[in-house]
Amino acid sequence: MDNFDQVMPLNYFGNEVAGFICAMNEEFYIHLIVQDNTYPRKVRLRGCEKLHRVLKPVLHTLEKHLNQTNTIKDMLCEIQNALEQQIRLIGPNPLVDRCAEYNVIFEQLQACGWDKVDFISSDFHELHLKAVDESDREHILKVWIPDKFPNEGPKFECDLPQDFQYRWLPDDSLLNIFSVFQETLNMFAEFWNIMDELDKNTWILEPETSSRKDCKRRIALSPGVSLFLVVNPLMPTAVPTCHYLGPERVVEPVRAKFNKNIHKWNEFDSLLTNLQQVLELEFPSPATSVKEEFCIECGICYSYLLGEATPEMTCDSPDCNQSFHHACIYEYIRMLPDVRSSFNKLFGHCPYCNKPMWCTIL
Ligand SMILES: [Zn+2]
Ligand SMILES: [Zn+2]
Repeated sequence: MDNFDQVMPLNYFGNEVAGFICAMNEEFYIHLIVQDNTYPRKVRLRGCEKLHRVLKPVLHTLEKHLNQTNTIKDMLCEIQNALEQQIRLIGPNPLVDRCAEYNVIFEQLQACGWDKVDFISSDFHELHLKAVDESDREHILKVWIPDKFPNEGPKFECDLPQDFQYRWLPDDSLLNIFSVFQETLNMFAEFWNIMDELDKNTWILEPETSSRKDCKRRIALSPGVSLFLVVNPLMPTAVPTCHYLGPERVVEPVRAKFNKNIHKWNEFDSLLTNLQQVLELEFPSPATSVKEEFCIECGICYSYLLGEATPEMTCDSPDCNQSFHHACIYEYIRMLPDVRSSFNKLFGHCPYCNKPMWCTIL
């Protein structure tokens, strides 16, 4: 009987394993998941196409047996027996054997370390590798293995503020990609520290849910007034691109303060500290306020979100201050009988107070 040393646990609990088992001198890739959280307990068997093809006629009965088997080793024995029986019955496998290719991937994953493997698709073509940056944040590198691997390099995807570049060379390995990914994470660690500090201590109006690649934030300053920032991920403490949203008479003094105090900006301080120092204000935060105070709804459609847009246009009249989605106020002004246009702007009036109001043409 095989001792199954080519099968490795995929997690600390040992209820998910993957690897190769041998039956009648043929290798099969298997991926076994024991779902302990259901009652009765369920065992799911996945693996290469060849495994499924050979086991297809008996898969249902085999899974029933597996559900009643106690240890992983006994389950592997059951699978191996079933494979041997089926191969005897149907004869040698006439189709292309892809196990040599699976073996290469398996060895390369083993070199990365099984604790770094977060997911393997049942056809072994999509892998997720997990890395941790200097501040203990988890990041996933999704890897797609091509048919001609390792001669042809994999495709990958990850959540970074800049494109992840990697040139696959002959004899290259997943471990090399993973190491470069890890170094790249460390390069952006300060950027994420800065963004995490903003996210934790201010009200972020946009994006609604941020990802690690987002360099933009719209921060609430007061009801109807917000600051839109674009941060450089390679120099996260440098002065960001700032854009103020809200009634011009409120925004103008904030902008003037920023320009007057810009010499106080210190790149050794965090972005949040610098912004508060230069703007001479403390941002409203989850500790001191509720977000609804700043999520002012649109005066035309009466909702806060229109698709992904928030009400970013505000009537400048001090007694009005009504906010609108750009698309809503544009439609309104466009339909006015006395609308005027000049260059890319439409001129009309506020639907609430009738004072002059304009918006850019969409
Ligand atoms: Zn609206
Ligand atoms: Zn108005």
